Amino acid sequence: DIVRQWEMVHGDDYSNFAAQNVFQLNDTHPAIAVAELMRILIDDKHLSWDQAWEITSNTMAYTNHTLLPEALERWSVKLFERLLPRLLEIIFDINAIFLKQVAIHWPGDSDRRRRMSIIEEDHGKSVRMAYLAIVGSFSVNGVAELHSDLLKKGLFRDFYELWPEKFNNKTNGVTPRRWIAHANPEMTALISSKIGDGWISDLSQIEKLKPFAGSANNKLFHAQWQAAKRSNKTRLAELVKKECGVDFAVDSMFDVQVKRTHEYKRQLLNVLHIIHLYNRIRRGDTLDWTNRCVLIGGKAAPGYFMAKRTIKLINNVAEIINCDPEVGDKLKVAFLPNYRVSSMEVIAPATDLSEQISTAGKEASGTGNMKFMMNGALTIGTYDGANIEILDAVGSDNFFLFGLKVDEVEAMRAHYDPESIIAADEDLKAVFHLLESGHFNIEEPGIFDAVIASMKDPHDPWMTVADFRSYIEIQQQAANAYRDQQHWTRMSIMNTACSGFFSTDRTMQDYNEDIWKLSPMELHK
Ligand SMILES: *Cc1c(COP(=O)(O)O)cnc(C)c1O
Repeated sequence: DIVRQWEMVHGDDYSNFAAQNVFQLNDTHPAIAVAELMRILIDDKHLSWDQAWEITSNTMAYTNHTLLPEALERWSVKLFERLLPRLLEIIFDINAIFLKQVAIHWPGDSDRRRRMSIIEEDHGKSVRMAYLAIVGSFSVNGVAELHSDLLKKGLFRDFYELWPEKFNNKTNGVTPRRWIAHANPEMTALISSKIGDGWISDLSQIEKLKPFAGSANNKLFHAQWQAAKRSNKTRLAELVKKECGVDFAVDSMFDVQVKRTHEYKRQLLNVLHIIHLYNRIRRGDTLDWTNRCVLIGGKAAPGYFMAKRTIKLINNVAEIINCDPEVGDKLKVAFLPNYRVSSMEVIAPATDLSEQISTAGKEASGTGNMKFMMNGALTIGTYDGANIEILDAVGSDNFFLFGLKVDEVEAMRAHYDPESIIAADEDLKAVFHLLESGHFNIEEPGIFDAVIASMKDPHDPWMTVADFRSYIEIQQQAANAYRDQQHWTRMSIMNTACSGFFSTDRTMQDYNEDIWKLSPMELHK
């Protein structure tokens, strides 16, 4: 369509096409566009290979969204041959020319050529779509500082060594129109009453809220901030009652983990903490207790057994805890089915504690973390993805950081021994004992064996057990902090006030300045 429109204005003159067009490949899914634009320019528009490649490779730009190698697309050569034979031919030619370049850069390094080839030769030939995107693009970016760094050091290291100038970072953002103004009208009115409403279209202005975070001269504002959070919590409690049949008391701390269910996001670490709290209640270890409502939500891919079984475990644990009269309001647990954007619009404004607990190095960016921060939730999080930039923005006094860092995770892998970590930790031992006793699956013997075994496996890639002690300690700090409502409110306001960087308007500006190079249009008023 873009080529057709270009032709209507410029005829067969493509000399300016690359300067005036960019295709931002949003993940590897549209990477086939590299070959398709080549086909159009060569076969339909009769340009030479070199002319077509000059245009294509200066028009495409690629955004990577995940470091997990299993998530990178590989399309089988067999399928290509049958459905897209001409595009396969073009990909083979792109690869042949590219591998000559690699050979010139690293003479005699056949292992490098095998590693970097767009065509994977092992276990049934396939096209590495991410490599096609990198070779065919003038820009390659990750979606948070750490993620972009790890792309250069790990997944795409060879390509970074060949073309360092292609690599850059564009930290993700979310829109304050949906995630504050639309989702949280009460807080929106309150903010605008203090700093005007310019922040809605220019979130950098939200920092004007910082002077109101101190409680001394802002008693009324603090009370109004708490009241807004309270009515949002009432709205969420109604949703949880309707969808889950669980009673959430609005005075409790609302502790929320909503995101796709995946092992690397470690919903299981959250479950271990919940069971630990349950054990504490059962043994009467409840001095200075903070009542807590834990909400977990998130879909699993249909064929992802571990994720499906984790959802089952959360539901079973919730059932046992919620029915125990000894527990009462000290702890409530709910799993929200069908988690989606419209549920997040109710959840983010009502959350006190935002769970961002992925294994360090595995969450590319996260955007849920940003929605929660904007709505005045405190983050309990690992040093991962955009959590790091949230921590930088809000300061360590207003963030609950825990867990191993990327290099510590990688250093521990070789000698990781979860069984000995469990044996050496009385609380963790008690949690596993209860799980393994079948306490949460009396009528369904064995159903959680695989989930339990995955955490005790020395090759567990997500190293859930490694972060348990650090996690429960920081959870205790969060619980203690919550009981000082004046202090908590200050931290909550600071989170919203420091969220200006995480607007997608800033993200788009960064893409424009570095990659698209569009000049702003005059607004027709
Ligand atoms: C924001 C959002 C996500 C992404 O959440 P993460 O915590 O960043 O993984 C997923 N699903 C829905 C419905 C969302 O609103």
